[in-house]
Amino acid sequence: MSLTEETLKPSVTLISASEIENELKHALNEFNDKHKQLEDKLSSIEKLIAWVNIAKAQGLWKAKTCKYSSQEACEAWNISEPDKLGIPQDVIVIKQDNTKKVAVLKYPEFCITCPLYEPKR
Ligand code: SF4
Repeated sequence: MSLTEETLKPSVTLISASEIENELKHALNEFNDKHKQLEDKLSSIEKLIAWVNIAKAQGLWKAKTCKYSSQEACEAWNISEPDKLGIPQDVIVIKQDNTKKVAVLKYPEFCITCPLYEPKR
């Protein structure tokens, strides 16, 4: 082979149309599977958010109607280490005797699972 022939040698490999079609079908199937998985996950997240909103609404209702809830804070619980429980610092009220209480009207999430709830009379 001469130097000219070597230089002009084609570098393109031809593949058949059916091969391309099969690859596209495969890629499309993979895309559809992933799309379905994402839709399922999104649906689960939407259900979870709906549940969290219901829980928050019930927490707020408990914070407003519980006999232990004063304007300032919940009188039932003393929280010695709020940061360990993930309670925001700005909802902690420090009483004169140095006990720490949670301002439940600012942070009604605290009431959601509380077993001490009792309605005001
Ligand atoms: S429900 Fe629990 S946390 Fe909330 S105010 Fe009542 S006693 Fe406190």
